[in-house]
Amino acid sequence: MQQLINEKMQALMDEAAPLWKEWPQIKGRPLPLITEEALEFWMRCKQHELVIQKCRQCGQLQFPPCRLCRNCMSLELEWIKTSGRGAIYTFTTAYNPPYQEMEVPYTFAIIELDEGVRMATNLANCKVEDIKIGLRVRVLFNKITEEITLPFFEPDVG
Ligand SMILES: [Zn+2]
Repeated sequence: MQQLINEKMQALMDEAAPLWKEWPQIKGRPLPLITEEALEFWMRCKQHELVIQKCRQCGQLQFPPCRLCRNCMSLELEWIKTSGRGAIYTFTTAYNPPYQEMEVPYTFAIIELDEGVRMATNLANCKVEDIKIGLRVRVLFNKITEEITLPFFEPDVG
């Protein structure tokens, strides 16, 4: 039975492999597609600033970036710099690579920033067994290519 499940899983992963390979990536890591809405976010990551949008009409903070306010539909948005600090809202650790080139294990986490918005990221500088919901974390910037610096998070040890 387990073997049958493994074979089925492998078949599904082989089927998905071409999709992964079409996505921009480097050294087995998929890279973000830089959209017009998120351009400012990625530019500021290169300057080691973690920014989110704030609505000038209603004050709502939001992430991921959007052309308009998700609360009041206003187009008047500005970018504000965050503290870069927060806590793990939830996470999962992957041990099986979605495709062969990807390094495992890696932890995908959703961080709730102190400003109140949530952000998907990878955790760094942390043993898998030490990761827990509520763990205080801070941003660190990981230059991947000339265009892309990814914000990761690591334990905030003061
Ligand atoms: Zn608004």
